[in-house]
Amino acid sequence: MSFQDSDETTSKESAFDAPAAWRLVMELRGAFASGKTRSYDWRVTQLKALEKLVTNHEPEIVDALRKDLAKPPLETVAYEIAMLKNSCKVALKELKYWISPEKVKTSLAAFPSSAEIVSEPLGVVLVISAWNYPFLLSLDPVIGAIAAGNAVVLKPSEIAPATSSLMAKLLGDYMDNSCIRVVEGAVDETSALLEQKWDKIFYTGNGRVARVVMAAAAKHLTPVVLELGGKSPVVVDSNINLKVATRRIIAGKWGCNNGQACISPDYIITTKEYAPKLVDALKTELEKFYGKNPLESEDLSRIVNSNHFNRLKKLLDDDKVSDKIVHGGEKDESKLKISPTLLLDVPRDSLIMSEEIFGPLLPILTVDKLEESFVVINSGPKPLAAYIFTNNKKLKELFVRNISAGGLVVNDTTLHLAVHTLPFGGVGESGVGAYHGKFSFDAFSHKKAVLYRSFIGDASVRYPPYTSTKQRLLKALIGGGILGIIRALFGLS
Ligand code: NAD
Repeated sequence: MSFQDSDETTSKESAFDAPAAWRLVMELRGAFASGKTRSYDWRVTQLKALEKLVTNHEPEIVDALRKDLAKPPLETVAYEIAMLKNSCKVALKELKYWISPEKVKTSLAAFPSSAEIVSEPLGVVLVISAWNYPFLLSLDPVIGAIAAGNAVVLKPSEIAPATSSLMAKLLGDYMDNSCIRVVEGAVDETSALLEQKWDKIFYTGNGRVARVVMAAAAKHLTPVVLELGGKSPVVVDSNINLKVATRRIIAGKWGCNNGQACISPDYIITTKEYAPKLVDALKTELEKFYGKNPLESEDLSRIVNSNHFNRLKKLLDDDKVSDKIVHGGEKDESKLKISPTLLLDVPRDSLIMSEEIFGPLLPILTVDKLEESFVVINSGPKPLAAYIFTNNKKLKELFVRNISAGGLVVNDTTLHLAVHTLPFGGVGESGVGAYHGKFSFDAFSHKKAVLYRSFIGDASVRYPPYTSTKQRLLKALIGGGILGIIRALFGLS
């Protein structure tokens, strides 16, 4: 992934430096040590406050995302506001169950005893977030951090400045600021934060910066969750409802922030035979959705900034693909807009196939037999998501068994994100760890093992002198079951 540095937005004289970051962490450590974040009531109050913040300020949130990305209001309401409210609701409904110790069986070696797993907060955690869904990606992890009873610092992305400052203001107004803080800023401020010792770092963004985050975390042995991206493929079979499939591909690609989404389809693989039919269907539906001049459509986000606009332009200007455009390709640099663009039969060694696209360009690769698509997908880094459209049961099974990705969806795109009972996260290059629903709570909790013993049943087998009877008994305990133990005790062979 070769996204550009956000250096251009780095402030020269940073107001927030390493000593300021240290003071902030110390202050939050004090608040955490007071025990207030551990209480059920504090967690519920903060989750309700967050829910209220989102509900009360919908128009400002829509407006901020319009400023940052020209994001269509419906997309903001559906994918940022509704999803956040749902995360709050789920956490509030389930919290009592999540925080209850989980009783587990014990083993014969510890007989007699009982055991449980106690979820405890990690302490003071850092959430570093990205610009493409800036409200959701900032506050969804914060919900997990609060539910698990932590103090938290949020560092939103400077590339979505209107949303970043709105969140700083609203969290200041609504949340308990002794334990929940926002630090706005770019590389300097993030670097100052990363120098500190945290109990968990939750980072969303690209793989290059993820390596910076992981290296900083390693200095303090701090665990990380890394929510990254990748090239999410869509395999398209011929025995499908083509209209439904194309609409769902379009919704996941251009209907998700104009392709600037981590789980947007990155490329399609279909057969040589079926490709012309698929291209025609995509063109028809695209025109129905966005009209004859999509650059004018209010229902498509713009490209976030000129760095990303030029990055995408370079992908299209590559000699290997410039004659492969079969639809779209229009650009308006003054408005940072690029129309939905289809490229057919792009070579696999082209620039567009060598990095995550993260924009409105959709290459289509063709193969003789659909099973070959598995080889293509598995020859690259593991993607964050992978999709297949098929009615063939065997192909579905092969797909689920053979494709390793953060998440899979059969006969749709991106919707797994909205299912809070599924973990959301990557594997390999697409990330480390997962969140959403209970997985968010778990991401910010330590699972403490607790074994309870009483003073009865103090078996002498573990104490010296280590006699041969004890050795036989131990062997029996390990492998022989009750009969073995009786044999060992009575010296029977
Ligand atoms: P970005 O530029 O907003 O960067 C993310 C964060 O990293 C920001 O808060 C930024 O300040 C910080 N940062 C940038 N450079 C840094 C540096 N040198 N040192 C320390 N911190 C630094 O976002 P981005 O990386 O352009 O986001 C796009 C990428 O994120 C894509 O790869 C996309 O797939 C991925 N993504 C993943 C998810 C997910 O949930 N898995 C969601 C959204 C985006």
